[in-house]
Amino acid sequence: MSWFKREEGEYPAAAGGSDPEGSADAAAKTVRTEGLWTKCMGCRAVLYIPELEANLNVCPKCQHHFKMGARQRISILLEPGYELVDGGLRSTDPLNFTDVKPYKQRLRKAQEQTGLDDAILNAVGQMGPHGVVLSAMEYSFIGGSMGAVVGEAIARAIDRARLSRKPLIIVAASGGARMMEGVVSLMQLAKISTALAQLDDARVPYICVLTDPTTGGVTASFAMLGDLNIAEPGALIGFAGPRVIEQTIRQKLPEGFQRSEFLLEKGFLDAVVHRRDLKSYLIRALDFLKAPAAA
Ligand SMILES: [Zn+2]
Repeated sequence: MSWFKREEGEYPAAAGGSDPEGSADAAAKTVRTEGLWTKCMGCRAVLYIPELEANLNVCPKCQHHFKMGARQRISILLEPGYELVDGGLRSTDPLNFTDVKPYKQRLRKAQEQTGLDDAILNAVGQMGPHGVVLSAMEYSFIGGSMGAVVGEAIARAIDRARLSRKPLIIVAASGGARMMEGVVSLMQLAKISTALAQLDDARVPYICVLTDPTTGGVTASFAMLGDLNIAEPGALIGFAGPRVIEQTIRQKLPEGFQRSEFLLEKGFLDAVVHRRDLKSYLIRALDFLKAPAAA
């Protein structure tokens, strides 16, 4: 006779197991603490999540900037009363793609988890005294990857900015092009870049805010095409990731390579701005960028 008996068959997977999707069962058997505490990747301090959220998802101890979802991003940058636009676009899975699981299934799951149609939200509203078009990417939706829907949403945001002559702000957070849409996702680079050239011809300001991470086809297109390209502190910004580069050139990369501060020093960025100062920085930048048109 045993001292105690496990009611269901298996052990719960260890915390931080390799397959987060497979551990859904395990999660049901363990006490949910993940909703309350998290560890800072910058200083390893254990942080109380409500407190972290109240601090704009920035570690109060070391100022590490955690990722921020599209909804929250819009709500901290725009005044109340903004309007979400360009909704209802969903990927059609043009390649009928399957890797370890069908892309359609991945999409459905991401849509359920985030409550979004794809990795982006567009909004129109006021930022201080300025009416703006704001497009914010959602990293938790398949790594913020850019497929046809993200491309279309950004192109619509750009056209909206051009036609209404409101400055455009895009907050980038992306692993790059969405491989499950292959060449269709790569075509978004050209589509967006063309629309941005028209916006530039119309002399409507565009500011890109690069957040952790901004890589691949997003860096290679709109994220580096702003009149101002500004980044949050410590964000990973690049085309290929540092690991891929190290493995290719077989050399150790310098400390801080592809981080905001390094890129600022090398002239790739115009500024690195703390999240708490971001809105006021953007307002001042727009004051400046819009001044000649007003005169
Ligand atoms: Zn920290």
